[in-house]
Amino acid sequence: MKTKKFNSWLKQITTEYPLMIAGPCSAETEEQVLETAKNMKDKRIQVFRAGVWKPRTRPGSFEGVGEKALPWLKRVKEETGMKIAIEIANAQHAALALKYDIDLLWIGARTSVNPFAVQEIADAIKGTHKTILIKNPINPDLSLWIGAVERFYQVGIENLGVIHRGFSTFRPGSYRNEPNWQIALDFKRQYPDIPMIIDPSHICGRRDCIYDISQMALDLQYQGFMIETHINPNEAWSDAKQQVTPKNLLRIIDRLCLRKQSFIDPEAIDKLEFYRQNINQLDEELLEILSERMKYAQEIGRIKQEKNVAVLQTARWEQIVQKVLTLGRKKELSEKFIHRIFKAIHQESIEKQEKILKK
Ligand code: PEP
Ligand code: MN
Repeated sequence: MKTKKFNSWLKQITTEYPLMIAGPCSAETEEQVLETAKNMKDKRIQVFRAGVWKPRTRPGSFEGVGEKALPWLKRVKEETGMKIAIEIANAQHAALALKYDIDLLWIGARTSVNPFAVQEIADAIKGTHKTILIKNPINPDLSLWIGAVERFYQVGIENLGVIHRGFSTFRPGSYRNEPNWQIALDFKRQYPDIPMIIDPSHICGRRDCIYDISQMALDLQYQGFMIETHINPNEAWSDAKQQVTPKNLLRIIDRLCLRKQSFIDPEAIDKLEFYRQNINQLDEELLEILSERMKYAQEIGRIKQEKNVAVLQTARWEQIVQKVLTLGRKKELSEKFIHRIFKAIHQESIEKQEKILKK
């Protein structure tokens, strides 16, 4: 994908602020939509979102009011000047969104996992200049996310952006959907010209961490936000726990701290250069040490092969884990980090030994 022109739509919507897309999870009634929108009127909020068709996990829950809501959104646009964004999940939704001249269309996380659905939508909107925002698929699969973007690119759509809404896990932890920042950063590294928008509402699943996730995204140079906002969140027909009031949304925006894109102060640049050289040096040493460690692991692999002993020795592995956790704690390295690093090192040793045993 040649992604140079991808962010031109963003510049047309906003030059001064990060993009802010906000509005209710679902359009429920005309009054709820208009009340929410009127209370959000602020030059820092450029786009009003509302779900019209809702992909629900189980049947029987509220599935959106459908086409009926589209004229309500038209009223929002006329009365507040905000652009409008809705989710589309099939060709029929796409046709209706075009008919009602919706400005931005997003592909939900449950749709971007499905290449057939994505292709069907891409074919249905071929030739439009609408902006298409593609949410990450619910499972942590970078290629699937990129693949969905490519399907739109292939039919000639260049006004593209992506939304990072987190990834579902078997056992939810502190987030409803794990951010897995690394996946979004990998996307940004491969396609730096495709605007990346954070959806802290679906990552958090609750209102109290929306600010923190939003600030983190700003610090990582994301270009915009999508934040679920409802005139009366506790009474919302979907995602009640994670929606904020328009007033609280404005408070969150006030508190967000914009960072400069890069350093300009010469003294800071000098210091930075010094620390970065040290880091580069240490990275080289780390690689040296890792390579030496692997050589010993391979020697052990040769003995295991000779004596026909299994590669995995759980007691030994447990001993290593306990030792490095204790040492790591003293050095103020988090348990999570130590676990991650040593699991990766152990995995590499196992793979190297396995190769020897197979010979
Ligand atoms: C939504 O934005 O309301 C929504 C359904 O999001 P997701 O596709 O991220 O679950
Ligand atoms: Mn929602």
